[in-house]
Amino acid sequence: MTVVSAASAGPAAPASPASPPALPASLDAHLVSEETRATLRVQSRMLAATRAFLTGQGFQELLPPVIGPVTDPGIRGSKQVDVDFYGHRYKLMTSAILYKQASLLAFDKIFYIAPNVRLEPLETAVTHRHLAEFHQIDVEIRDARREDAMAVAEALVSHVVAEVVRDLPAELELLGRDKDAFREVVTEAFGRVSHKEAVADLIALGHPQDPASEIDWEGEEIISAKASRPFFVVDYPKGSRGFYDCEHADTPGVLRNFDLIAPEGYGELASGSEREHDYATLVTRMRETGENPAKYGWYLDLARRGIPASSGFGIGLERFTRYVTGRSAVWQASAYPKLPGVVSA
Ligand code: AMP
Ligand code: MG
Repeated sequence: MTVVSAASAGPAAPASPASPPALPASLDAHLVSEETRATLRVQSRMLAATRAFLTGQGFQELLPPVIGPVTDPGIRGSKQVDVDFYGHRYKLMTSAILYKQASLLAFDKIFYIAPNVRLEPLETAVTHRHLAEFHQIDVEIRDARREDAMAVAEALVSHVVAEVVRDLPAELELLGRDKDAFREVVTEAFGRVSHKEAVADLIALGHPQDPASEIDWEGEEIISAKASRPFFVVDYPKGSRGFYDCEHADTPGVLRNFDLIAPEGYGELASGSEREHDYATLVTRMRETGENPAKYGWYLDLARRGIPASSGFGIGLERFTRYVTGRSAVWQASAYPKLPGVVSA
């Protein structure tokens, strides 16, 4: 296992006081450990519970694309991976958001279990929350408002947690995960704060959070550690997110989006929003976020003909598994972990 450094030699320098997570000794040692096997049994149950829950609510599962001419631009310093597609530069999906919107032409409620590849910046090697390859439970609902998507995310997370607690007590015990940690998750409504309130909280706690930006990695961990049940952060400022998060009509500069944050310091589980689908607005928002509209040919052609209004979200499967199993780092919730900057199997 080789660690690639941001500077020259040696492991990546920590960007925060957090210590770098221990890495898997080798793929085989990782796979055969009792803890990994228990974690992956929980993950398999979580996937089954997710599929049963969503199909029971009328969602259609689709298989997501892996490559395409363009993908979610992302804005937190991660890089995309190019693929030579018969002489054309295609991308591995960083997220399937553009295809989710397109799919609503055929089905009103869809979901994927989607693989994503993001070459995350080396400073994320110490967050315990970043992989270079991960999966999202990706949900999109036609003609839905943000609150509808939040309600589905909340019900899905509660349902999956309740099934694991009921059906896999031996796995949770082996992993030392206290079932009592989930009592509020399954019995109480999730909390909700605005981005503005979360920033004020962080500043009051002495953390220098920029009010115009995403909550930074350290801030995310601080607000998460204070909570005892999952909660939503809503209304992120424009400029902190991609062009497809819709802006409030009556509050310019504020987006109709949300993050779902896990308690106990596990951090962000999901991001979602009401989607922008108006052609002219999409072009303007692309330009504002530094994206060249010419790159988005198929998507903008579709938008010109009419993309349905929608809301949706993506839950990081390995993050969700880490939270449910109480593991100390997200790579422990992946069978074949790829860590930012780590050359591995
Ligand atoms: P995003 O659209 O960037 O918010 O990603 C959606 C969800 O995927 C996040 O809320 C996380 O749960 C998960 N996620 C994003 N990036 C990573 C990563 N590098 N490693 C693991 N999970 C991630
Ligand atoms: Mg996010």
